[in-house]
Amino acid sequence: MLIGLDFDNTIVRYDRLFHRLAVERGLIPASLVATKQAVRDYLRATNREDDWTELQGIAYGPRITDAEPWPGVMEFLGLCWDAGVQVAVVSHKTRHPYRGEKHDLHAAAHNFLESHGFYDLGLSRDRVFLELTLAAKLARIGSLRCSAFVDDLPEVLGESAFPREVRKVLFDPANAHADHAGFARTVSWRDCADQLLVERRACA
Ligand SMILES: [Mg+2]
Repeated sequence: MLIGLDFDNTIVRYDRLFHRLAVERGLIPASLVATKQAVRDYLRATNREDDWTELQGIAYGPRITDAEPWPGVMEFLGLCWDAGVQVAVVSHKTRHPYRGEKHDLHAAAHNFLESHGFYDLGLSRDRVFLELTLAAKLARIGSLRCSAFVDDLPEVLGESAFPREVRKVLFDPANAHADHAGFARTVSWRDCADQLLVERRACA
């Protein structure tokens, strides 16, 4: 059994990092709520779209190690390890940011996984696939024969090219897609383990 995981906003939580970066640069008031979405909405509302794009290049690049593993994801990996379930990461990620300095975003993603100990938890480096296009990501999920794939974006799971035999799980910690039909939904990594690993535990 192999479970596939998306990377950005599924394994990695950027909320506090975006807030910190924006405050450091004087782009937002420190009192703004510390979520990625609040920072994005504020910068868009103040006509600072370019600053938002540039912030993303920094957050997904050189400062990514200051982002956090989503609460519970390390424990989820531990439970997979205990259950003998393999894990792969499949992400759609350009090599460089759209704007600003040409940081290597793929190297940065590996840095995050390494510095937070993911490679000590049963995830192997050669099971991390950073694909340049969404089509390549979907093809990879299919060729790996994932039994399930966890992603924070309903539009990814809803793609017509999404491999049909793979169980789709929407990671929705903000409970923003409660009415979504067509795939399973999970609000936490604990809940995700209960959904995906329960049969394995029952067999143990
Ligand atoms: Mg994502």
